[in-house]
Amino acid sequence: MTRQLLYQLLFPFFFLPVFAQKNSTTNYHPPLDIPLILSANFGELRPNHFHMGVDFKTNGTTGLKLYAIEKGYVSRIKVSPYGYGKVVYINHPNGVTSVYAHCSTFVGKIDSLVTLTQQKEQNFEVEIFPKPTEIVLQKGENFALSGNTGSSTAPHLHFELRDTKTESAMNPLIFGFDLIDTKAPEIRAVKIYGLTEKGYLLKGKNKTIPVSKGKFGYYIGGNATTIPSNFCSEQGGIGFAFDVIDHYNQADNPLGLYGSYLIVNNDTIFGHHLDSVSFDHTRYINSHTDYEEYHGAKKKYHKSFRTKENPLTIYHNDNIGIIHLQPNDTAKINYVAYDTKNNKSELTFKVSVLAGVLHSSPTLSPKTLLFPDSSFSYKGATFAVDIPEGCVYEPIPKQLETEKSTSIGSSSQPIQKTIAVKLKLVAPQLSTEKYYIAANGSYLATKYTNGWLSADSKSLGSFSIKVDTIPPSIATLNFTKIDTLCTKPVLSWKVSENKTSLVDYDLFVDGHWQVLEYETKGSYLFFRKPENLVGKHFLKIILKDACGNEMIWEKEMSF
Ligand SMILES: [Zn+2]
Repeated sequence: MTRQLLYQLLFPFFFLPVFAQKNSTTNYHPPLDIPLILSANFGELRPNHFHMGVDFKTNGTTGLKLYAIEKGYVSRIKVSPYGYGKVVYINHPNGVTSVYAHCSTFVGKIDSLVTLTQQKEQNFEVEIFPKPTEIVLQKGENFALSGNTGSSTAPHLHFELRDTKTESAMNPLIFGFDLIDTKAPEIRAVKIYGLTEKGYLLKGKNKTIPVSKGKFGYYIGGNATTIPSNFCSEQGGIGFAFDVIDHYNQADNPLGLYGSYLIVNNDTIFGHHLDSVSFDHTRYINSHTDYEEYHGAKKKYHKSFRTKENPLTIYHNDNIGIIHLQPNDTAKINYVAYDTKNNKSELTFKVSVLAGVLHSSPTLSPKTLLFPDSSFSYKGATFAVDIPEGCVYEPIPKQLETEKSTSIGSSSQPIQKTIAVKLKLVAPQLSTEKYYIAANGSYLATKYTNGWLSADSKSLGSFSIKVDTIPPSIATLNFTKIDTLCTKPVLSWKVSENKTSLVDYDLFVDGHWQVLEYETKGSYLFFRKPENLVGKHFLKIILKDACGNEMIWEKEMSF
């Protein structure tokens, strides 16, 4: 039976998503040679993004061999102290790219190419795009070791499958990796919202109802609930969101929900399924989930409605999921949460609107609000800001301050795009590179031109000019200041940069540049001593922060 047909039988309610043809026939080699156990699945809700791959456990350790899932060629290699850390991308003949992140080390040709490039560019951080004939791998060939580099907080393999052409991330549990899963998702709460006709939230008009599990499945108290009449309006209506997590066999940790649908009075009005997410859209997580609940109570609500502007392709159809109810109306709600193996959990209840007056839509004025479908620019004597169209997810208060403080919007409101901020640098006492713009107190990469500081910000809120004249600091970690003889294979230092960020870190041994690895978790620098480095040598480390403050550490050592 084809998957398409299977879905038609299982979910006769809705118009079906077209699954790509890349699944079913794939017979990938596992990327690890231990059983594949998930610590995170595809599409989990994360800050500003969906989890774009799966995380496989690596027995709590690093250094496990990683294998190419299919024959192909290495198309990209990156080394960074942030994000994916050390990562390898392999393009396969079937149009799929596999991605292996947070590696500890590369192996063979990849390792030599990275070392060569680092020496050539005199930089630990490199990004390489080898030609298709340069590094060819066979199915099941080892090319790197698992690790914990970049923003990873514990050893694991972050693994992705992408459509090579579009670079959209695909759900590995649909497109090739079959894991045993007999546990259904867990529904924990339901939230009801008053909505405008565009799917925007009406401020303060929402209600949360806990969900319990009994003998016959999930339920809410009395199997029914009521909402005030002012949740509803002439054009708008109400919408639902559900706090749902999923579970897998062999993993105690909670995982993310794969799919859902919402049936109102026997009509399927909304549904989502996390098969594929494009990197351009992933930040729309801020609109898909209840942002306030996610950042406040860390609750994982999936909305069963969306705003008009939300372009995510994870939804079953074009409906935005608004339920048009009027005072005294009652609707039968049926919600189904399912995983990639079609284990299902259901919740059925009635919602009634109490008698009373409707919500009267206030006129939304561009004088006081920022809108998703329009841009906004302000230029004053000392502060300027440019907000592009499609930046905010809902109409939000503009809160423009240009006098005593300079701010726009609130840091508690997420944004989709970067905004351009400028602040006038009046009568600087120091060299201009020492000044930077801070967004809500945090450093932004800043430029200076013609009396103005400018920066791109990924948050709204308050903006101010700050000064950094303090160089980064450095301290030896696995040896002491007075040690002159070193027998250790790796030397490490702790660095700290309090105000801005460490932008340059170089190690010279007898004046020759050597790779100094930077690990942002805990702020460590590492030097893996080459085996042929013996005898007495002079070590010098130069650190630079974003405001050009420099720190030099030097010492003569014997190896
Ligand atoms: Zn991951």
